[in-house]
Amino acid sequence: MDFRLSDELIELQQRTREFIKTEVVPLETEQAPHEHGPSESLRRELVERTRKAGLLTPHASREMGGLGLSHMAKAVVFEEAGYSTLGPIALNIHAPDEGNIHLMEEVATSAQKQRWLKPQVHGHIRSCFAMTEPEGAGSDPSMLQTYAVRDGDDYVINGSKWLITGAEGANYAIIMARMDDSTATMFLSDMDRPGIRYVRTMDAMDRCFTGGHGVLAFENLRVPAQDVLGEIGKGFKYAQVRLAPARLTHCMRWLGQARRAHDVALDHARRRQAFGKPLAEHEGVGFQLADNDMDLMTARLHIWHTAWLLDQGEKCNFESSRSKVVCSEAEWRVVDRCVQILGGRGVTGESIVMRIFTDMRAFRIYDGPSEVHRWSMARKIVAQAGHRT
Ligand SMILES: Cc1cc2nc3c(=O)[nH]c(=O)nc-3n(C[C@H](O)[C@H](O)[C@H](O)COP(=O)(O)OP(=O)(O)OC[C@H]3O[C@@H](n4cnc5c(N)ncnc54)[C@H](O)[C@@H]3O)c2cc1C
Repeated sequence: MDFRLSDELIELQQRTREFIKTEVVPLETEQAPHEHGPSESLRRELVERTRKAGLLTPHASREMGGLGLSHMAKAVVFEEAGYSTLGPIALNIHAPDEGNIHLMEEVATSAQKQRWLKPQVHGHIRSCFAMTEPEGAGSDPSMLQTYAVRDGDDYVINGSKWLITGAEGANYAIIMARMDDSTATMFLSDMDRPGIRYVRTMDAMDRCFTGGHGVLAFENLRVPAQDVLGEIGKGFKYAQVRLAPARLTHCMRWLGQARRAHDVALDHARRRQAFGKPLAEHEGVGFQLADNDMDLMTARLHIWHTAWLLDQGEKCNFESSRSKVVCSEAEWRVVDRCVQILGGRGVTGESIVMRIFTDMRAFRIYDGPSEVHRWSMARKIVAQAGHRT
């Protein structure tokens, strides 16, 4: 395993770092404190700046208009983008679009790519991914209750979804629905089609996703058969195609946020005096800074290890679960310590760390709660041990 970065990747890393510092961080104050997420106009301004810098949608293929980054290159660039609360939106690498772009590249027909993927890669439109339901699919996707029934050349979909990130203002949705044989299928639909009702935006702890998190109702939504994503009955398989790399990209972006929080706390600890010396010289604070450094490096090594395996063509379901748990918990510990080091200002809008703290909490829940990943890893560990004896 060789983690040396090529000269081109180091150049891209530096260019992204400089762009985030000079063009994106200054816009962080543009977002009103109580908005559900950055407004559409702020998103467009950020995307325009990124387009000019040649860094837009870098994970998409060159054919679609991206930079065709490998998983390792994504690890490096996404961490840099994550340094600003607005960086992932600027580069068009935020959830759910980043994962949807990956899935569309893998599975969509060329007509579907022209219609939805290309304008999305160019930052003109947004998408959402509709799987979770209030009473059905959640940690256990097999509890899916939204139904699709064939009717002539169409499928008719009924059901409700919630926690759908970016649904408000999204141009199209990838909808997961159950078929009459209990398999699942993914459908593509413009969001303004009759039969989709935007019910409400949920009040949420985080404020980092354009459109926030929405509740959707599908009421006899008719989707033409040509808008099925991939093959009928393969929805659960495609969910894994999307989720394994998408989990890892969350780890990358949040690593950037954790590093930012650490830098802010370190700066504070060096300047702020208490009991006759800087905070950083008190062992209790110094140890927290050392623990931060270890957690940041642990997260980065897990990300790079899984990214390297993905670049070798491995499926990495186990490794992506492990990275998701390790990173979401290590990055969370870093940000929590930073709040502590900052004292009172850490829990107020005087410091960006409060935003990072409230934005990051949900990461231990979405794309699989930590407990579900531990449970699924344990099953594999035990099964492998059984094979060996
Ligand atoms: C901010 C945010 C954004 C989201 N965006 C989207 C989106 O865009 N599209 C979408 O479809 N969904 C989205 N989700 C939904 C997300 O994927 C689900 O919240 C997640 O899968 C958990 O499902 P649930 O909330 O129904 O929790 P439940 O399934 O009710 O589980 C609740 C808790 O039970 C515990 N638990 C569950 N199973 C086990 C087990 N086997 N062992 C031990 N403990 C267990 C875990 O602690 C879990 O947190 C989002 C969620 C959040 C918080």
